[in-house]
Amino acid sequence: AMAYSSFDVTQLATWQAGDPVPFSFLAKTFDSIATTTKRLEIIKMLVGAFRAILATTPEDLLPIVYLCTNQIAPSHEGLELGIGDSILVKALAQATGKSMQKVKAEYDKEGDLGTVAANARSSQKTMFQSAPLTVRAVFKQFRDIAAVQGNKSQDKKIQLITKLLVSSRDLEPGYIMRALQGKLRIGLGEESVVSALAHAQLLHRGGSEDADGALANRLERAVQAVKQAVSQCPSYDVLIPALLKYPLEDLPEHVRFIPGVPVKPMLAKPTTGISEVLDKFTDQEFTCEYKYDGERAQIHLLDNGKVFIYSRNSENNTQKYPDIAASVPGLVKEGVQSVVLDCEAVAFERETGRILPFQVLSTRKRKDVEVADIKVQVCLFAFDCLYLNGEMLLQRPLTERRKALLEAVEEKPGELQYALYKTSTDVEELGTFLNESVTAGTEGLIVKTMDSTYEPSKRSSHWLKLKKDYLEGVGDTLDVVVIGAWFGKGKRSGVYGAFLLAVYNQDAEEFQTISKIGTGFSEEQLKQFSEQLKEYLVPSPKPYYRYSETLIPDVWFDTKTVWEVKCADFSISPRHKAAIGLVDAEKGISIRFPRLVRVRDDKAPEDATSAEQIADMYRSQAIANQKGNKEED
Ligand code: ATP
Repeated sequence: AMAYSSFDVTQLATWQAGDPVPFSFLAKTFDSIATTTKRLEIIKMLVGAFRAILATTPEDLLPIVYLCTNQIAPSHEGLELGIGDSILVKALAQATGKSMQKVKAEYDKEGDLGTVAANARSSQKTMFQSAPLTVRAVFKQFRDIAAVQGNKSQDKKIQLITKLLVSSRDLEPGYIMRALQGKLRIGLGEESVVSALAHAQLLHRGGSEDADGALANRLERAVQAVKQAVSQCPSYDVLIPALLKYPLEDLPEHVRFIPGVPVKPMLAKPTTGISEVLDKFTDQEFTCEYKYDGERAQIHLLDNGKVFIYSRNSENNTQKYPDIAASVPGLVKEGVQSVVLDCEAVAFERETGRILPFQVLSTRKRKDVEVADIKVQVCLFAFDCLYLNGEMLLQRPLTERRKALLEAVEEKPGELQYALYKTSTDVEELGTFLNESVTAGTEGLIVKTMDSTYEPSKRSSHWLKLKKDYLEGVGDTLDVVVIGAWFGKGKRSGVYGAFLLAVYNQDAEEFQTISKIGTGFSEEQLKQFSEQLKEYLVPSPKPYYRYSETLIPDVWFDTKTVWEVKCADFSISPRHKAAIGLVDAEKGISIRFPRLVRVRDDKAPEDATSAEQIADMYRSQAIANQKGNKEED
């Protein structure tokens, strides 16, 4: 548990209760946070600062939290810092009476505008000291600076920033500069801020520090409650007032999903193939959806008829898709007043009903789009429903959310369609569906468990990606030796379900593992291989097998079986030993997404692909990747 007892919170506050919190207090807090990379330490420092504020001037908590996360508004409002260097250099020159050249030269030397600002201000003689900056004043100035628009906006920004810098001293100018750049670079993540908020409020309200075990539990519960609240409604404008008002454990009740405030999208985890999916989802009901290749679109229809479209990063994309925004009210079914849908917006050829590749979508303009000028038509593929008629559905299972989706909107070909799905546990059928999805022009499948809730911003293990690259792979096939196997699970019990593959290193005269393979087999094949391989069982690995203790198969075989396999690509691996010492001193090379092409009865194990060849293929892949990157630039 964390020891908070050493903190005398009231001593931290250098200001009177009720007075505005000085900005220097925040700058000092940032400065101490910058001295450590340990997350717990950072949280502790923040907790101290937040408690001092709660005990004195709680109304400043909101601007403090925004400044700690280097934001000035919820992301969907689009009010952002990230002021360009040229504006900042000009303002700093004006504020310090130095030439722009001088400031630029120092920037080149230091590499950090914050340091340049701090140095310049501290060496500057000032005629009179202006009143100390307060947190709320700096926050307001930041918002004003970000909001400046139109004619002469650059000059106006420079003027406002100069004023702010002139009033700053000691540590302040450095953090003002970095905050304006949009990069604090003190290693303070938003998660730490959220955890610290929960801790600080619990302790402020008298979390007892004696019964440590009990306190640790309460702290953990408080963090969970605040995290859930933030994930339901990612807006500090809503969260902080509620945090000040309600018991922490009730926050998720009060800080609820509101149409108009986008939640961070739920994300999927990658997999290596169908059998991995089956292994992970044994005994669970799941569904496979086409993975459309477009842009994530969270569509909000509000009670007042307004429509908002949000991107994967919660940016407001409504201006980019006026055509979609206009069509949504006509797509909802009768009785639907408000709804939030999770969709993929995909370029679509309405005449032929064809899905077009992402590259086509990316040619669409981002701003000032006039419906009449739109050349690339877009179809929404809807796969989730997060809210319907006043009810938040995030905590409901996918079965119910999918039902809500069907209840909420009508399909209209070429405008809005339900994401195509299939529910099956049969390997063959899934393989066929995956192939169909690729033929239809999508990236593959996303496999989802039916009882999972919607987990905002999580890369969840309830959503698994099954991409098509697992079907394609590198040009050349490899010949590998089967040296071990794992027993199958579920439907595959009674046969081997996965195999350990190796290549041959002629110099060391050893078989070095390169991959585990468990996909692309038919039931028939698995039965047949299991029969054959049983004849080659050996009680323990041969002394000339090189493998990892972290990847031990259930059974070992003598080197009798050679398979030709395809794979997606090569990667350096701590778990495999192929070509160890040739590319990396400690690590071997492994192949990703191996698939059996055929059995090579005509090859002896010593004729399998050699470690040297693997090293060569890895190297040429690295070169090809480099070239590829250059061409993209
Ligand atoms: P990330 O997971 O970080 O978003 P990425 O941008 O490469 O990585 P992928 O992980 O490949 O995207 O795929 C996830 C994305 O696929 C989703 O964000 C969504 O935009 C898109 N997608 C398409 N169809 C679906 C679907 N049926 N269910 C969920 N997401 C889908």
